[in-house]
Amino acid sequence: MDNKRDGKRTGATGGTGGGTGTSGGRGFNSGGTSGSRGGGTGSGGRGSGVRGYATGVKLPPPRIRRTRRDNARVLMLLIAALAAIIYAFFYIRAETNRPPAGAANVGYGAVEGNRAAVCFIDVGQGDSILITGGDGGAVLIDAGEEAYADAVLRQLDARGVTKIDALIGTHPHSDHIGGLASVIDSYEIGALYMPRVTNNTKQFEKTITAAAEKGLRITAPSPGDELVVSDGLKLMFLGPRPGGEGSINDNSIIIKAVFSEGPSFLITGDAERDAERFLLDSGADLRADVLKVGHHGSATSTGADFLSAVNPVYAIIQCGGDNPYGHPDASVLELLAERGVSVLRTDISGTVTFALAESPGGNAAGSAAGRNAESAAEPSPGANAPREYSIYVERGEQNE
Ligand SMILES: [Zn+2]
Repeated sequence: MDNKRDGKRTGATGGTGGGTGTSGGRGFNSGGTSGSRGGGTGSGGRGSGVRGYATGVKLPPPRIRRTRRDNARVLMLLIAALAAIIYAFFYIRAETNRPPAGAANVGYGAVEGNRAAVCFIDVGQGDSILITGGDGGAVLIDAGEEAYADAVLRQLDARGVTKIDALIGTHPHSDHIGGLASVIDSYEIGALYMPRVTNNTKQFEKTITAAAEKGLRITAPSPGDELVVSDGLKLMFLGPRPGGEGSINDNSIIIKAVFSEGPSFLITGDAERDAERFLLDSGADLRADVLKVGHHGSATSTGADFLSAVNPVYAIIQCGGDNPYGHPDASVLELLAERGVSVLRTDISGTVTFALAESPGGNAAGSAAGRNAESAAEPSPGANAPREYSIYVERGEQNE
């Protein structure tokens, strides 16, 4: 099913270059027609809905003398039918005319099946990120507030996940670990990672209890640890700094997820400036194609030097609409805009998924190796070709 869809899409766009608009040659090329594909199916569905309505209307039998009530009923039916037609017309226009919003490779809809993808699940004000290797491997980083656990479980089910190789609670705040207990109860878990900090909250206690009941030990990763999830997917633990000093936020587990010949994702939990400083000083390779912006876009994270080191093409902000914290902060959005980073937000776009193409290959211009000026080696055409990806958003516009 997915194969067929992909074949169609990439076939139609056949090797167009520079998929990511704002980023020049840095980004990967990917399917450009996914937006119109979504619009097409939308209009089809609406169209048949209107037909169903029209045939479903029972007009009163013809009479020579109509009562006032009959006339009123016919008039109401006509008005309703007209309203349905007008609504369908404008809805179809809105769907088909909707531009692919900024980057050329943004489409609408959900990604199903266990294909290689990184899915930033809309859990309101909180984080939850599902990473699948495409060959059965699955990683879940955070699970939002407890109230959003169902949204996380639904996403796992939709993606055909039955076992989570690595379940990671970045730090023990409820907007990250609230849903972990439900996930632990519902799935086979390979390993559970949490930082060496505790929190005196109900959600933390529930998580620990759920893990204990399942006989799961908690591993506190150290910078430099690596986890090979599957052939094509590796996790590198870059933080937190050992010792557990500092705030709970600054003790967030920091992960760089790397797909072989594909994009890399830096996921920093709620890490703030201190943790960013540690990362910069650690000498770790922070470069990533996609940055999960720290602490929901708070001004306490994403320093200019840190952003320079990561040098992402895309930034993802996971936050709730009209949240009481004012996330994301205007200064962070300004900095990202200044650097030409394309921003996607779950409060605007809903669940955002970066879905990788089925196999490595494609346009070599814009490979990860060629993104940064300091890695001067120019990729030779065809060699080390980057794995293409497309971005799917659930709703809304991309916020540039
Ligand atoms: Zn948070």
